[in-house]
Amino acid sequence: MQIYALLSTVDLSSNTPAELLQAIFGFTTFRPGQEPVCRAAIAGRDLLLVMPTGAGKSLCYQLPAIARGGTALVVSPLISLMEDQAAKLSALGLRVARIHSGLDRADARKACADYLNGSLQFLFIAPERLRVNGFPEMLAKRKLALIAIDEAHCISQWGHDFRPDYRTLGQYLPALRDAPDPAPIFALTATATSAVQKDIVAQLGMTNPLAFIHGFRRENLAIEVVEVPVPERAPAIFKLLSDPARRPAIVYAVSRKQSESLAGDLSRAMPAAAYHAGLDPVTRERVQTAFQAGELEVVVATIAFGMGIDKPNIRTVVHAGLPGALENYYQEIGRAGRDGAPSRTFLMHSYADQRTQDFFLNRDYPPVEHLTRVFAMLSAHPQPVEDLRAKAELDEEAFDKALEKLQIHQGAHVDFGGSVTLGRSGWKNTYSIQMQVRAEQLDKVVRFTESCQCRMSALVRHFGDSEDAGRPCGKCDVCDPAGAILRQFRRVTAAELRIADQIVDELCGVDHKAAGTLQKGLDLVSRLSRKEFDGLLAAMVQAGLIEIEEDEFEKNGEIIRFRKVRLTRAGHDRRPGASFALLMGDGIVEEFRSLPATPTRSKRPGPPANRAAANAPSDAPLAVATPESEHLAVRLREWRIVEAKRLGVPAYVVLHDRTLNAIALTRPAHPDQLLAIDGIGPAKVEKFGAAILQLCAAELGTTPNLESRDQP
Ligand code: ADP
Ligand code: MG
Ligand code: ZN
Repeated sequence: MQIYALLSTVDLSSNTPAELLQAIFGFTTFRPGQEPVCRAAIAGRDLLLVMPTGAGKSLCYQLPAIARGGTALVVSPLISLMEDQAAKLSALGLRVARIHSGLDRADARKACADYLNGSLQFLFIAPERLRVNGFPEMLAKRKLALIAIDEAHCISQWGHDFRPDYRTLGQYLPALRDAPDPAPIFALTATATSAVQKDIVAQLGMTNPLAFIHGFRRENLAIEVVEVPVPERAPAIFKLLSDPARRPAIVYAVSRKQSESLAGDLSRAMPAAAYHAGLDPVTRERVQTAFQAGELEVVVATIAFGMGIDKPNIRTVVHAGLPGALENYYQEIGRAGRDGAPSRTFLMHSYADQRTQDFFLNRDYPPVEHLTRVFAMLSAHPQPVEDLRAKAELDEEAFDKALEKLQIHQGAHVDFGGSVTLGRSGWKNTYSIQMQVRAEQLDKVVRFTESCQCRMSALVRHFGDSEDAGRPCGKCDVCDPAGAILRQFRRVTAAELRIADQIVDELCGVDHKAAGTLQKGLDLVSRLSRKEFDGLLAAMVQAGLIEIEEDEFEKNGEIIRFRKVRLTRAGHDRRPGASFALLMGDGIVEEFRSLPATPTRSKRPGPPANRAAANAPSDAPLAVATPESEHLAVRLREWRIVEAKRLGVPAYVVLHDRTLNAIALTRPAHPDQLLAIDGIGPAKVEKFGAAILQLCAAELGTTPNLESRDQP
């Protein structure tokens, strides 16, 4: 009460930001980055703020709003976020109201009245509120101090969390920003690639905005990315975490089953438990509390874990499989080392993970045909969901998924009674883009694992901070191979050293070459598999001989990504034949391998072979690119373009590059062999199997064997 009196009587505009920070928020110092943002916002600049979750973005608009006086309008996509923020501000004695569908009419009316009589400092609304008749006009009756758009990435269809309701936001803003001295727009988000950043600025009609993007670099995290065959992961994690100095730890599993089985393993040697969405809320709460209190030292979780966790001393975060997006991955590793002490993160992956992720992708983003089928059944006349479900020729799960997506993209409206009516026909557009964005996210994770650039820099760049991205971290497996714990490095052989010399020769006198061209240019005896070649390039980057830059261009509607390889000064100065230390990344360190060899349970033929045997230098023989395989790859690509056009999807939805290359290398002759290739599931075999096998057979001059597998 006292604070309230104080706030309403004191003229805040004369206070410095630092004084307001103390007087209102009770904080002694600004967090990194906060002060310049506050100053710019107080001055009335339009602003885009991209900082990681938990960095303290809210304060950056709240403090300026108070300093500017009047009411700040805050648009937020989730009721829970709104409630949380509003409660925090009220507790500080500020005058706050919110309007969303979870409140009754009387509350909304009161909020509007308070707004109109000028007694509010903050008004929180959901974006769809602006579509309510008369509401924008009501808002426009007063001059706003500032307009904050929280989770602004939701506005962009190029973002992964697109909400059509956010899309229309921009059209209401001009009326709310009366000149002169229009209310500044403050867009904030924790995740925006540069395309999304541009889209936010354009959609909101921001004028000459300042962009603040920072705080993504974590100085005390050492990131390791290691290829580990699936059966090797459990024993490796067990050995890693057996060292008490590496605990407390969080292990992220890809499935509930994996979470249970890893937790079971680990609890033989340390206090560990599983945590996933399949557990009842009481158990989940107990696990979380016990971990927070230090009674549990390891939690093996699916992505559902960690939101409410505020534990400063987590020493290790392990990903027992490929994450679905760098956004999640970054957030998850970010839970390590909050206390600033050195901490390590391990990401285990292999080709098998891409298959799992493709499965999730197909599950979460059903084919457009499913949605079209449901959409065709709708009309302006409300129909019960159950009736539609019974009529649709889809299984229950597929129907529900399709309806859910239609609803998100406004192709269908479902009322509280469970009746469905026809929505807008434009759903197909935004849905297809979202599908594409999702597939791209996966692709980016894969490229992150394959990259030979500093891991931390790659993440910082991904989040759009290109200014800070140039500095290598010095700690990750790329920057400091010798310091890697799990990933094994070995010296290159004399033969590999000779190839490195050849690569240096190839690059002499040119600005750069594409990695693919470089690989083709090596003479036939030196031909390495793509994986070996990449390993050698990574080693050369490490030794400072070359630099690699990712680039892309568009061809026939397809984004072609490639890597530019350039000689460094040291590379230029290198004397041919002189020996130098090159280290190659090569599986996992001996002590973390399971001994004796675990029998492979894989029923699928072909690689990857089990590499458990001690001293085994590498996998089963790697397929080597040949002129034939390259010819086949070209044919497959041509077919893919035609197919993608026919289906109206991006090319990689038909086949990922890596899948296509694997087909070209292994040249399957039977559906079963095709299935054994990562990235090919039964659905793909059914859709494209015949065509692909036909192409492979044509290459060999034989007829394909189109019989499917023996039925059990
Ligand atoms: P986000 O960037 O994820 O939106 P929030 O704005 O919710 O983060 O802030 C995260 C937490 O940090 C909040 O509990 C907030 O009170 C706290 N915080 C923000 N700024 C400071 C500061 N300068 N000093 C101390 N705590 C702060
Ligand atoms: Mg926030
Ligand atoms: Zn690094």
